[in-house]
Amino acid sequence: MKITLHATPDITPRPLIAEVILETGALLNIDRADVKPKGGEVVIDVPEDECERVVAAFKKRGATITCLKQPIIKDDDECINCGACISVCPTGVISFMDDWSVQMDLDKCVQCGACVTMCPHGALTVGK
Ligand code: SF4
Ligand code: SF4
Repeated sequence: MKITLHATPDITPRPLIAEVILETGALLNIDRADVKPKGGEVVIDVPEDECERVVAAFKKRGATITCLKQPIIKDDDECINCGACISVCPTGVISFMDDWSVQMDLDKCVQCGACVTMCPHGALTVGK
């Protein structure tokens, strides 16, 4: 399960992620971090069975967390299976199937948004 930590100026100086790892013992993997002094967001991969405890530990520390049900959403009615999104994906989420339709392995998605920009048909949106 992927979660987004919305960093605000009051929490960015604090070692929140380290604290949550120490408290929960969960092996958190930072997929993407875009944090500036005024705030930003960090996408974190959390083991499915630890998710509830991890989210609670972040919230206890005043952090805002969003659970990402789907990191990237493809509108199959708009997708023309051109494959333009495949070449820009840094983590190999998207690939062609035997019938040349595109498939997505969403566990690998780090929500960089590169495929959204590349798609000529507006078929992709970043999940919230
Ligand atoms: S958002 Fe980035 S990582 Fe996710 S599928 Fe698109 S290009 Fe790949
Ligand atoms: S770039 Fe857009 S239209 Fe082309 S395969 Fe990817 S999602 Fe489909």
